[in-house]
Amino acid sequence: MGSNGRLNRFLRKVFLVDLLEGMWLTLRYDFAVARPGKPKELYTEQYPKERPQVAERYRGAPRLNINPESGETLCISCDLCALACPEHLIVVTSVRDEKTRRKVLTTFSYDTSRCMFCGLCEDACPVDALELTQDFELANYTREGAIWDRQMLEEGPRPTRYVR
Ligand code: SF4
Ligand code: SF4
Repeated sequence: MGSNGRLNRFLRKVFLVDLLEGMWLTLRYDFAVARPGKPKELYTEQYPKERPQVAERYRGAPRLNINPESGETLCISCDLCALACPEHLIVVTSVRDEKTRRKVLTTFSYDTSRCMFCGLCEDACPVDALELTQDFELANYTREGAIWDRQMLEEGPRPTRYVR
């Protein structure tokens, strides 16, 4: 590096040029936000006021589907999802209906805190009863709260929705 280059670097340091350039960049964006109307170049998502668009194939909160007409669960209690899960976090219990000889679902639990959302359970389900949805708000205050029971799985999470 020549003496001109060294002098240039020295002067940039003395006069805090890099710092001022950085501040000017920040202020430019702040000014853009403060203007009325939509900001032009705003990269920070204003969550939760603005909800992000997740990818179409995003795998999030589990849901146990029900038949919309009869209100009955689609789950046939075959236990394949529980067997497919590498984390063994799904527990399905059922009783045998003596008349029809079919299994009837009694409880279904799903520990979301241990789930890696790989989708193997969803793929294993022969009747599309278990589905990983695009809901992404799974936070909970307790470990117990992360274990979803049948009702929670059927009704889905109900996070607080903030509006502008
Ligand atoms: S998504 Fe994967 S880890 Fe989660 S319950 Fe299904 S199989 Fe198990
Ligand atoms: S694989 Fe599907 S039908 Fe079988 S127990 Fe799981 S959710 Fe129910």
